[in-house]
Amino acid sequence: MGDVLCAWCGALIGQSGVDHSHGICRSCYRELLRIPDLSEEALDGLPFGVIVLARDGTILAYNPAEGALAGREPSAVIGRHFFTEIAPCTSVQEFQGVFREFCERDDASRTFQFTFHFPGGPVQVQIVFLHRGADVAVAIRKRVDPVA
Ligand SMILES: [Zn+2]
Repeated sequence: MGDVLCAWCGALIGQSGVDHSHGICRSCYRELLRIPDLSEEALDGLPFGVIVLARDGTILAYNPAEGALAGREPSAVIGRHFFTEIAPCTSVQEFQGVFREFCERDDASRTFQFTFHFPGGPVQVQIVFLHRGADVAVAIRKRVDPVA
C-alpha cells in the first residue's frame, strides 16, 4: 500500500487500491469540469495552463499561465497550429493520438502525463482534456513530485 497523491494539487487522496477519479482528487476534478463553461477572461485568470484547441489543432485560446510555463506570448501563438508549429513534441501518439481519440468520443475528460520538451529543458506535466463545445480545452499543470 502506498500513498496516492492528487496529480493536480498534490493532496493525499488515500492509499493505493482505494477508488479515486483519474488520480485527481474530487475537488480538483470538480474545478476542472467547470473549465468548459468559463469565459476566455476567466480562463486567463486560472493559476494553471489552459489551451483551447479546435479539432484540427488550431490554437483558439492560450492563457498567461501556459505562456509562463512554455515561455511564450499567448498573442503570438493564437491562430497557429499547436501540433505542427507550436509544440511539435506533442505530435506523437501519446498526445496528438489521444487528442484525436478524445475528439471522437463523449468522455467527459481524459487525463494523462506527458513530458514537454521546452527550449529550457523537459518539463513533466499532467494533462486533462475536456470538451468545450466543438473544441477541446487542454488543462496543463506541472507535475507535483511525489514525496519520497
Ligand atoms: Zn487535488
